[in-house]
Amino acid sequence: MRVDLHTHSARSDGTDTPAELMAVAFAAGLDVIALTDHDTTAGWAEVAQHRPRGLTVVPGVELSCASPVAGGRAIGVHLLGYLFDPRHGAFRAERIRLRESRHGRAEEMVRRMRASGLPIEWERVAALAAGGPVGRPHMARALVDAGQTGTVDEAFRLHLHHDSPHYVPKADLDVSDGVRLIAAAGGIPVLAHPLARSRGRVVGDDVLADLAAAGLLGLEVDHPDHVEDDRRHLRGLAADLGLLATGSSDYHGTNKQTPIGMCHTNPAVLDAIIGLSTGASPYTD
Ligand code: AMP
Ligand code: FE
Ligand code: FE
Ligand code: ZN
Repeated sequence: MRVDLHTHSARSDGTDTPAELMAVAFAAGLDVIALTDHDTTAGWAEVAQHRPRGLTVVPGVELSCASPVAGGRAIGVHLLGYLFDPRHGAFRAERIRLRESRHGRAEEMVRRMRASGLPIEWERVAALAAGGPVGRPHMARALVDAGQTGTVDEAFRLHLHHDSPHYVPKADLDVSDGVRLIAAAGGIPVLAHPLARSRGRVVGDDVLADLAAAGLLGLEVDHPDHVEDDRRHLRGLAADLGLLATGSSDYHGTNKQTPIGMCHTNPAVLDAIIGLSTGASPYTD
C-alpha cells in the first residue's frame, strides 16, 4: 500500500485542480493521499466528489505557523492537520485570518518588487491565486510569465527568498496554538518538514519536545527537502518522544520538481492517524 500524506492543489499553491490531483495520484499507483492545501479546506468537497474508486483521500491542511525565538525573529514552520472538523469555529476563524494576512502581505511584496523595477502585476498574481490563499509560488509564476525569470525555482532564488528585500512575513500562527487548535477540532497535528534547511532556519530538538508536550502527534520524517542524516535524526527523535513518523512528497504540480508519491508513510502510521482522529473521516470506497 502506498500512502502520500502531503499534497497541494490549485486551491492553494499547487497547479492541479483537486480533480486533476486525484487523477495524478491514481495514475501514479497511490492508494492513499492527503490533500493539505495551505490554510484552506476549499478543496475538500471537490476531492470528495472527484475521488476515483480505489483511491482513499485524507482531508487535511498545512497551516502557516511560527515558532517564537527569544529576542529574535520567529522561525517559520508548517503544521499539517489531518481529519479535523472543518466547522470548528475558532479553527475556522484562524484559517480565515491566515488567508487574509496572506493577501495584504502579497500586495506589499508585489508593491516592493514593482518599486524596484520588476515586471509583476498584482492582477496577474491574484488571478493565479484564483481567490484562494495567495503565496510566493503565485508571485514566482507571475515573474516567469512576465519573462523576468526562467523558472519558479529561479524566481525564488533571485527575488522571493526569505532574506530578499522584497520578502514580507505573514501574520503566522504560533505553532503551539496551531497544535492545540487542530487537536481541539478532533484532528491530528503533524509538523511538516521540520528540518527543511534550504528554506531558512529550522527549529531545534527542544522545540520539537515542547510541541510534543503541547499535543503534537507526529513528525514528517521522509520529505524531499530532508537529507538522509536529518531523516535518521528525526526518526530517532520521533521514537524518543512517542511521535508518529510520516513521509510525503509535498507535491505542488508543476510549481515544484517533486513527483507525487516520492516519499511514503507506513500504512500502520496512517491507521494510527485515522484511529486517533475524531473530527472527520477519510473519503474512501
Ligand atoms: P509562502 O507560503 O507564500 O511563504 O510561500 C511558501 C511556499 O513556497 C511553500 O509552500 C513552498 O511550497 C514554496 N516554495 C518555497 N521555496 C520554493 C522554491 N525554491 N521553488 C518552488 N516553490 C518553493
Ligand atoms: Fe506550498
Ligand atoms: Fe510546507
Ligand atoms: Zn506543503
